[in-house]
Amino acid sequence: MQLYNKLSANERAELIKKAGKERLTLSFYKYARISNPQEFRDQLFIKWHSLDVLGRIYVATEGINAQLSLPADNFENFKMHLDSIDFLENVRLNIAVEQDNMSFLKLKVKVRDKIVADGLNDETFDVTNKGIHVNAEKFNDLIEDKNTVLVDMRNHYESEIGHFKNAVTPDVDTFRESLDIIEDDLKAHKEDKNLVMYCTGGIRCEKASAYFKHKGFKNVYQLEGGIIEYTRQVNEKALENKFIGKNFVFDERRAERISDDVIAQCHQCGEPCDTHVNCANDACHLLFIQCESCKTEMNNCCSSTCKDIHALPYEEQKALRKGQGNSNDIFKKGRADYLPYKKDLRNIFENLNQTQD
Ligand SMILES: [Zn+2]
Ligand SMILES: [Zn+2]
Repeated sequence: MQLYNKLSANERAELIKKAGKERLTLSFYKYARISNPQEFRDQLFIKWHSLDVLGRIYVATEGINAQLSLPADNFENFKMHLDSIDFLENVRLNIAVEQDNMSFLKLKVKVRDKIVADGLNDETFDVTNKGIHVNAEKFNDLIEDKNTVLVDMRNHYESEIGHFKNAVTPDVDTFRESLDIIEDDLKAHKEDKNLVMYCTGGIRCEKASAYFKHKGFKNVYQLEGGIIEYTRQVNEKALENKFIGKNFVFDERRAERISDDVIAQCHQCGEPCDTHVNCANDACHLLFIQCESCKTEMNNCCSSTCKDIHALPYEEQKALRKGQGNSNDIFKKGRADYLPYKKDLRNIFENLNQTQD
């Protein structure tokens, strides 16, 4: 019985093209007690492989976090399978705003310690005591309230290309870092301000809202279903869209365009641009923003050093990499001192301090 992915990304892309079928990209998560994650993982793999599901799925004793694509024709069967698992019955599915048949090219179902790398010791607080979930309409009202502090719970490379108007976007590489920064900056306002938070699909806010309540914040709110579900509701109900730019996503699409605004700039020349790429030098693979003309000039690389290495014959590149440890993680932290236009985001709660003056 096949329990692991056997095709390469290129082979898979060929198959998808040949099949010519529409695929649906979606995501969901659920915190639930899973006593045997490995067994659950194997069951999912067998069933989903048979339904031609591709994606990145994490299973842990604390639940499941899934981002995937599947042929639209198989959706009913897939949904029936989810509904047959008691804690996934009627789970909210976040359907991607921008569809792309090539969003995922492999099926990877992994057992992890956590479904989100949160760096937290869960024993210290009750994760089920979470913030108030709000829909898009209520969220729009709430963020106009002068007593609201709106916080983006994502990392710097995500909020750099898109965020809600007036949101604080902590300049962090990890979720864990942002928790401390936010708590510290807001410690005088645990009772008098509304702490409203959002993330891509809602999963990070589940933990963060419980964490901040545990830390004594009285009015904690989270955007239900994150930016993805917000956009769906805004379109469906013709609400005002308060999100500017692109929503960063963790698949081959890299991002979904939510508004026409381009709020970022090419890290190499400073021209307006919000397209993330990975440095073509396999030993580097840095995630950064690069415009078309820099892409041509730098041969898809982040620096002249990488450009030189990338131009070497493959065997020589391999020899250089020996013992250096290779990273194929396409979402490696996008920072490098030599990128002159990499912006520092706002760590300081400017809006809050303005209203105090
Ligand atoms: Zn450029
Ligand atoms: Zn590079």
